Order: sequence, then structure tokens, then C-alpha cells
Amino acid sequence: MNAPASIDTDPRTHLIDGLLQPSVSGETIAVLDPGTGEPFAAISAGGPAEIDAAVRAARGASQAWAEMDPLTRGRLLIRLGALIDTHREALAVIESRDTGKPLKQARSDIEFCARYFDFYGTAADKLHGETIPFRPGYTVMALREPWGVTGHIIPWNYPAQIMGRSVGAALAAGNACVVKPAEDASLSTLRIAELALEAGLPAGVFNVVTGYGHEAGAALAAHPGIDHISFTGSPGTGGAVQAAAAKNNVSVTMELGGKSPQIVFEDADIEAALPFLVNAIVQNAGQTCSAGSRLLIQASIWDQVVAQLAPLFAALEVGHGTSDATVGPLINARQQARVEGMVRKAISDGAPVLAEGRMAKDAPAGGFYVTPKLLGPVAADHPIAQEEIFGPVLVAMPFTDEADAVRLANGTAYGLVAGVWTRDGARQMRMVRK
Ligand code: NAD
Repeated sequence: MNAPASIDTDPRTHLIDGLLQPSVSGETIAVLDPGTGEPFAAISAGGPAEIDAAVRAARGASQAWAEMDPLTRGRLLIRLGALIDTHREALAVIESRDTGKPLKQARSDIEFCARYFDFYGTAADKLHGETIPFRPGYTVMALREPWGVTGHIIPWNYPAQIMGRSVGAALAAGNACVVKPAEDASLSTLRIAELALEAGLPAGVFNVVTGYGHEAGAALAAHPGIDHISFTGSPGTGGAVQAAAAKNNVSVTMELGGKSPQIVFEDADIEAALPFLVNAIVQNAGQTCSAGSRLLIQASIWDQVVAQLAPLFAALEVGHGTSDATVGPLINARQQARVEGMVRKAISDGAPVLAEGRMAKDAPAGGFYVTPKLLGPVAADHPIAQEEIFGPVLVAMPFTDEADAVRLANGTAYGLVAGVWTRDGARQMRMVRK
């Protein structure tokens, strides 16, 4: 499969202080197309020197940015959102090629990224504080002030979207940013940072350093010139980032994944639930923190739900993202091996495969593909039912009653989201609270 014409295959450099700059070392990282396993671009491999330059640039720009009239600051972000929207198709092609995600999903991600900048841009002049009625003679106020320089470590599953959510909010509040996108998916962030300059954001306000997590990411997390860190990714890396930030007494915002249940009661509108249950696990090939990766089915309707769900899984086709297959490849060979290993272990421990999707005929060899699978019933304490798989694998298990459903739903280390399918309004509210 040929690279789409709109992809620029020159090595991409960091964007520091408004300038495109290669790494001091000159080292680069090959960017692989997850749908073919072949390199199609390269990014710079940054480390402590580039992170330090970016933090200094952000510090230099931070005061003027913080003191800018919030209406003007907000309008610059709204302009950036509009520019992202104007370049939506080209950015979607970049995102799809870089991550393997189907084009339709990539278009939606870019739209959300644009909307984050638009949303936070409109919020920039509405970040009001509070007054506190302490006692007569005192005027006590809580004012909202920017941190100063914020660090943003971004994962590879929704690069543009998560970057927009994190950076859009920080910029709107008057912070200057240093962004470290994932080594597997940096291209959309680099392009959007260029668009930020075009939108009129001052140099040094939105810096991007690409590179490996253990080099550029670790250097950013440990940098004493950072005032706040936002991280999305795995719990293990999140812990390391928190430990590094704690040494500098720097506060953090963490989003570390999930093992979210979809709970189907016997009174549910099953026809309405089925397409949602499938999409909740196959969207982005299951590489979504809020993926509905556990399916809890009331025992009385187990056979019916499985009989209706299995053909939907069997019909799923896996192929190259830019061909807009329903399910794309995983991000890299490591994730592919991890998911396949977890599934193999579950099957060898006795988990039945209730249904499996298929490869598209034109799916290129060498891509990091995993066919969607529905497994069940699985033991609630098996690793496949406990650990975040980050692949298109749905594990089903039966429950007896509401109390059993709550016990199973809450029976993992995670607690990000949950879905409840029932027509009983009182039960909906009880389940939501529990
Ligand atoms: P990761 O958490 O290691 O990577 C996320 C980001 O952190 C990347 O930008 C990476 O470069 C950076 N990073 C890595 N090591 C670092 C370090 N020592 N210090 C600072 N930054 C560092 O994720 P991964 O290894 O690519 O994926 C492994 C698993 O993480 C997945 O299987 C999935 O379960 C989970 N994950 C979750 C999310 C989510 O949205 N919650 C996103 C990506 C991955």
C-alpha cells in the first residue's frame, strides 16, 4: 500500500520556542505504519537537553501569556480550533497512518481536538474565582492563577484528542506548555503545534519534544522547572511520573486506564444494547481507556445475548486504517504480542471463544492486526477479566442479581466508567451510585 500523497516523509523535528529543531544528538526514531509494519516517516529522539530547552522557552513565554487579556488568549485558541478544523482531512490522514486507526475514527478524533481548543478558548475569560464570607471586616478571595509551565505526556491511542483536552485547558488558563507525545504517535501533535504558530500563539507557549518515554518523558517528569504535569497512559508509567514529580513537589493529573463493565439486565432493550456493546470494545481496536471490555450478562438471558452478539463479532473485518476498515491494527508489535499472549493464556485456561472476527482480504501482511474476539464465560478472577487488555477482546461472564452485578463490576483494580442496560429507572439510579 502506498503512502497517501499528503504525508510528508521528511524527518520531523521538535518544535521549541517557535522553531523546528532537531535533537542535539541528531538521533531519530522511525515511524512505523501499524497497518504494514513498515517505516514511513521519522521523528527526532529528544532527551534531557531538548526538554530543558523547551522548559526554558516555556518559562520565558509564560508571564506574557498569563498576563494577556483572557479574551485575546481565548480568541487565539478558538482560531487554532478553527485551523485544525480547516486542516481536518489532512490531519485525519496523518493520525490514521501514524496510529493505524480507521479514517472515520481519525476524522472524529481531529474534530474533537478542534472542539477542545474551541471549548477552552471560549472558557478563557470565564475562569472566575470565589469570595469567602469569612468574618466582617475581611474580604477573602480565591483567585484562579495559572501554574506557569505545564508538562503534558500524551499516549498513542488518541494522540490529537488527548493532547487537545490537556493542552487546550492549560493554555486557556494561561500556562505555557511542554508536550511530549508518544514515540508511536507524534505526528498530529507536531502539525497542530505548527498550526498554533499560524493561529498567532506566541513562540514558546506551545512546545513539542518528541522521543522515547524513558528519555524525553522521564526528563520532563523530573524537570524542576515544571509546575504541573498531566499524564495519560499505563498505571506503571503513571506511578513513575508521580514519583519523579513528587521529588520536586509538583502536582499531577493522572488518567490511567480501565477495565470497564457493560452490565446487561434481563429487562434491557437488547436490540439497542447490541451495537453499542460491540462498538464499546472494537472502537480504536479496543485501545481505549474507557473501552467496555467486560460484559456482564444476567444469567437468565445469557444464551439469547450470546446468540445475538456472536454473529456481530464474526462479521467484524480487520484491515488497514486508511482503507477505513471497521477495525484497524494495534499500535505496535509489542501491543499485538501482549494481546495475543493474554488471549492464548485465557483459552488454554479453558475460556471458550464464542466468536471471532476476520481479516480483510486486502489487509497488508506485516501489520499489527488482532481479530476481535468474544470470550466467555470467563472466571472473574482470571487475568483476562482483571487486566486492561487494550485490544479488541471482550470477556463475558454471567451474574445472578443486582448485588452480584455490582460485586463483579467493582471487582477489579480499575474504576473508570461502567454501562448499565435496564429499563428499570430506579435500578439505573441504584447502579449508577454503586
Ligand atoms: P505508557 O504509559 O508507557 O506510555 C504513555 C506515555 O508515557 C508515552 O508518551 C510514553 O512515551 C511516556 N512514558 C513512557 N515511559 C515514561 C517514563 N518513564 N517517564 C515519563 N514518560 C514515560 O504506555 P505504553 O507502554 O505505550 O502502553 C502500555 C499499556 O498502557 C497499554 O497496554 C494500556 O493498557 C495502557 N495505556 C493506557 C492508555 C490510556 O488512555 N489510559 C493509553 C496508552 C496506554
